[in-house]
Amino acid sequence: MNRIDVAVIGGGPGGYVSAIRLKQYGINVAVFEKERLGGVCLNWGCIPTKSLVKVADLFSEIKESENFGITVSSSTINYKKIWERKNNIVEKLVSGVEFIFKKKEIPNFKKNVIKIEKINNEYKIVTTENEYFSRFIILATGSLPKDLPFMKFNGTNILSSKDILKMQKLPQHLVVVGGGVIGCEFASIYNQLGVNVEIVEILANLVFMEDIEVSKRLAMALKKAGIKLHLKTSIESYMEKNGQLILTLSNGKNIITDKVLVSVGRKPQMDIDFINCELGIENGFVKIDNNLRTNLSNVFAIGDVTGKLMLAHSASKQALVVAEIIRNEISSGSSKIDSINYENIPACTFTNPEIGSVGLTEQQAEEKYGQLLVGKFPFSANGKSLGIGNTFGFAKVIADAGTKKIVGLHIIGPQATELVAQGGILIGTGATIEDVKKVVFAHPTLSEVVMEAFEDLEKLAIHKI
Ligand SMILES: Cc1cc2nc3c(=O)[nH]c(=O)nc-3n(C[C@H](O)[C@H](O)[C@H](O)COP(=O)(O)OP(=O)(O)OC[C@H]3O[C@@H](n4cnc5c(N)ncnc54)[C@H](O)[C@@H]3O)c2cc1C
Repeated sequence: MNRIDVAVIGGGPGGYVSAIRLKQYGINVAVFEKERLGGVCLNWGCIPTKSLVKVADLFSEIKESENFGITVSSSTINYKKIWERKNNIVEKLVSGVEFIFKKKEIPNFKKNVIKIEKINNEYKIVTTENEYFSRFIILATGSLPKDLPFMKFNGTNILSSKDILKMQKLPQHLVVVGGGVIGCEFASIYNQLGVNVEIVEILANLVFMEDIEVSKRLAMALKKAGIKLHLKTSIESYMEKNGQLILTLSNGKNIITDKVLVSVGRKPQMDIDFINCELGIENGFVKIDNNLRTNLSNVFAIGDVTGKLMLAHSASKQALVVAEIIRNEISSGSSKIDSINYENIPACTFTNPEIGSVGLTEQQAEEKYGQLLVGKFPFSANGKSLGIGNTFGFAKVIADAGTKKIVGLHIIGPQATELVAQGGILIGTGATIEDVKKVVFAHPTLSEVVMEAFEDLEKLAIHKI
């Protein structure tokens, strides 16, 4: 009989990480993944997009090479080659995870789970081909792109984030519907590669989850780079004519374009039938408590399907916590497990300029703490930034005026997605302004922008007037 201790449904950064950790603990675990291990993150999300970001940034740098005293007589794009490079990187990482599974002897049943039936104290997991029995289940089935009711994805000119990554030729004109993280990243990439890009966003700001100053600065940068922004605007309807799309906007204007990327959010992927039990759902997502438990005994859920924070590292953190909880249950252990503080999970937007943020925005911190200390420092006053020829943006630190605890770090500018890790450590460990004073930041580095933003909390930044 096919009996396992823990069945993990979905092999993304939630599912595959939990399986590896459980196996490290000596627990009999198996993954059910209908596509390839790595999920959206490795196959259609984080990794392929970041390989394109590199190329887009490189092309921009080449165009600016004259500023550095280097004359490059010509540079052209071979998008097919860029696309193949992206695929090679994805292949390398996915096959790497597959190799780890093979070496660690973790079964990966490459099948769709269609049914889960509760039978006494265990669950029967039914795939399109077989049946298995398991005591514990981790639901890690992820999410799918949402479309617009009147504008369904067709894979040719109305594209999802997955479709656009399959595109082997650059369009001349691209409209991105939705100015969230994913929409802005694609807009930034294709604009840098020479595509005419417009963003249509229903809200007043791009990347609305970010600190308002950061959102505004991003809009400024994208506009300067040549992206046309239509804020507080929605798509009302569209028609096709002579192979082109004519979009009608809520302000009455029309845009004619080759392709539309619809990036208006993601919806949970959960199409499993539950028999003899009913899975709790909240706002469409699988409902979990602070210990990642669903309403069903011994059934946990992690990652995008829970809608907590739709980020790969959030899914992986949940995966490690759930593995620890299940280890305790199986071995009657009592290792202490801290529940996850989602506020302290960093978020990165890989536009040009990049954004890295962790903790509360100024607006959220004001609501929670009232009196704040805010420190800011621009990249334009930093030696390393001048050296690398990229001085756009700033770092902004927020502290609770009462306790002097650091509660937010928001960076827009060069290497912001790397620099934010410092905030992750400091905020995650509850550091105060006094604690940060013990840290020495190396010179000349971009980190000094973060250091001076910290100093500016007490108006003591050395290089600020
Ligand atoms: C374009 C794009 C860029 C992104 N960039 C970033 C980034 O830079 N940084 C970041 O942190 N996050 C990024 N994300 C988000 C990140 O990809 C997700 O948060 C992450 O993949 C979620 O992991 P997960 O394990 O919950 O689910 P997923 O990665 O979605 O994996 C779920 C898996 O479950 C499988 N599955 C579903 N149902 C079943 C079933 N019934 N039976 C068997 N298998 C099933 C699916 O095939 C899938 O492989 C990006 C997303 C997109 C779309």
